[in-house]
Amino acid sequence: MTEENPFEIALKQLDDCAEILKLDHDIHETLRHPMRELHVTIPVRMDNGKTRVFQGFRVQYNNARGPTKGGIRFHPQETIDTVRALAAWMTWKCSLLDLPLGGGKGGVICNPKELSVGELERLSRGYIKEIWEFIGPNKDVPAPDVYTTAQTMAWMMDEYSKITGSNGFSCITGKPICAGGSCGRDDATARGGMYTIREAAKEAGINLKNATVAIQGYGNAGRHAAFLCKELLGANVVAVSDSKGGIYNKNGLTIENVCACKAETGSVVNSPDTQAISNNELLELDVDILIAAALENAITKDNASKIKAKILAELANGSTTPEADAILYENGVHVIPDFLCNAGGVTVSYFEMVQNASMYYWNLEEVHERLAHKMSSAYYTVLDTAKKYNVNMRKAAYVVAVNRVVETMKLRGWI
Ligand code: NAD
Repeated sequence: MTEENPFEIALKQLDDCAEILKLDHDIHETLRHPMRELHVTIPVRMDNGKTRVFQGFRVQYNNARGPTKGGIRFHPQETIDTVRALAAWMTWKCSLLDLPLGGGKGGVICNPKELSVGELERLSRGYIKEIWEFIGPNKDVPAPDVYTTAQTMAWMMDEYSKITGSNGFSCITGKPICAGGSCGRDDATARGGMYTIREAAKEAGINLKNATVAIQGYGNAGRHAAFLCKELLGANVVAVSDSKGGIYNKNGLTIENVCACKAETGSVVNSPDTQAISNNELLELDVDILIAAALENAITKDNASKIKAKILAELANGSTTPEADAILYENGVHVIPDFLCNAGGVTVSYFEMVQNASMYYWNLEEVHERLAHKMSSAYYTVLDTAKKYNVNMRKAAYVVAVNRVVETMKLRGWI
């Protein structure tokens, strides 16, 4: 197994789970393959008048429990194996949160930072032109992910509406509120993570008031997490990082200043009253809580033994490799696995689907209350399973999620 291939990692995690559950060979083999994969080419007229062809994917991994659901990434290093892995993880995530949804994911190989707004819009619309027949509220419902935003979703929803000649609000989630979006979607991933950290702190015996936190990654998930750590948990964020490097202040960062610096310079580095640290140093800081909110493979066998945090909250998908997982478990780090920790995003996306279908919209308090309930109940289901099977939290989350998918596949007569 190559440590960096996310799909191989996802399969290894599934294989471990199959062993615990003593899964029948045929069922296990079925679950190791995505149900459907689309590979598309998207010709886009660039601002200079020339056409550039982009490559895109949509993977629908398993729809036993409902229409597939999962974000769309725009990323220069996107690969089909990353999309496959993320689609598999979405299957387990939706199942773990007991949402009536399956798992999917999409991606386009591109560097959004090098594209103009017009080019991005044409690329977003072009992607939908290629996949529209395969998506929709009863088939597959995309959402934002890395480098895609509410604006991207609005363009995609509009293109779907034009092609189908009907209102397409329910074909995609993460839309702007005025175009069928839900209150509370913007910080839902980070907020959901906070609800699980709140419960994990009780388990790990950490007093959250002024507990120290380091956050790797300062994008959508990480930035919101930085604010919510203080607001919801009363904890003190002492370090954050982005792809250019990290910053530290042992007395705590002023998050407003960090955001202003990021907005002005494109990076958190050089925020006032902070000391520069490397990304590796951030991961190894002596803090109570480490939040991984960047990309895959942040914690590997090379640095896992150096993690000093008592809780590792994985807002990012695939942030920890299986070898690293074993080391963290051995060292008593309480890991809140990715597809539990970051499930707040898809949960509020599901709420958005419910609101679109009923044409009745909830207020922010209703969204937060329902999200808190879903997240903490999933956390305790995983914790109880970890204790019952004497396994780590990730394996326990797999046991719960895979079991539900398998039961449904059996009842539907698929296997
Ligand atoms: P984003 O693109 O907004 O942010 C990613 C951040 O990570 C950026 O600040 C980038 O500079 C930083 N980064 C990249 N490499 C880094 C490195 N080596 N060290 C430190 N920082 C680094 O993406 P996002 O939407 O915040 O997503 C982050 C992770 O969370 C992804 O794994 C994504 O799949 C997952 N996630 C996001 C959502 C969501 O709603 N945004 C939902 C579920 C899961």
